[in-house]
Amino acid sequence: MTRVPRSHPRFASLLVRARLARASKNGLVVPEGLIAHGRAEAFDYLLGERTTPGARRAERMAARYIAGARWPVLSVNGNVAALAARQVAELARAWPSLKVEINLFHRTPQRVRAIAAALRREGVVEVLGLRPSVRIAGLPSDRGRVDARGIARADLCVIPLEDGDRAEALQRRGVRIVAIDLNPLSRTARVADVPVIDELSRALLRIAQELRPWRRRPPSAGSFPRFDAGGARQEALRTIRRRLNRRSLAAPPRGRGRSGPRRSRGTGRRSRRTP
Ligand code: ATP
Repeated sequence: MTRVPRSHPRFASLLVRARLARASKNGLVVPEGLIAHGRAEAFDYLLGERTTPGARRAERMAARYIAGARWPVLSVNGNVAALAARQVAELARAWPSLKVEINLFHRTPQRVRAIAAALRREGVVEVLGLRPSVRIAGLPSDRGRVDARGIARADLCVIPLEDGDRAEALQRRGVRIVAIDLNPLSRTARVADVPVIDELSRALLRIAQELRPWRRRPPSAGSFPRFDAGGARQEALRTIRRRLNRRSLAAPPRGRGRSGPRRSRGTGRRSRRTP
């Protein structure tokens, strides 16, 4: 494998790509998962590759929803396991009643075993979804097969990196949905009660942090305050628009790396990084 030099301006992004390429060779991630990652990368780029204030608010509310749920479940697919098994474990530690369930579109026994092993290696104690025995209506694929101790009885599902069909099927069951999805236009983000428009690993860690105060004084069970999901998506789109307007004026940085002031062509003003 090609070594990525630390000095490369896109070091972090290249590392993630290399990790996913490895995971696809190991069978953890399917080729379709690589394409989904590409779409997310583009949105992360447009959003500034950091957590926006709007995403931070959504992450706070996501923690509140998990804390207020009677039966919260985090759904894990191959990309989630490959990108963020450690952060999944951290979130599960932060809220021990949060169940972790494997749910896959491309399901084979080997893949399920590989994903469960990746999660356990990072410290997830109980992994559900190994022998799903319940089918949820409206989802003909394997994603409709769920664990009787997990999604089948969940009142709240955290669904990172999901497609819209599944989000809609869960919504029809009356399940509250926290989505983690960098695309504010996706059906999943539009269906979610709390759309967290942020990169997966960043989002999981922040939600874990935001859960801490709720451990001392948990909210009443089954309580979910209203969240302005449409407003959160609009805010992400505004951020993208703002950044696109500024970027289209900015000259590419001179020389190597990101050091030194950057000037925007034409205006003579320094370009600023925007959230
Ligand atoms: P929908 O049906 O909801 O419109 P879709 O068909 O685009 O969604 P998929 O192709 O399954 O759904 O993609 C899953 C979603 O996960 C995409 O919207 C993508 O932006 C998002 N995604 C992928 N990787 C990440 C990541 N690391 N962090 C956050 N979001 C991600």
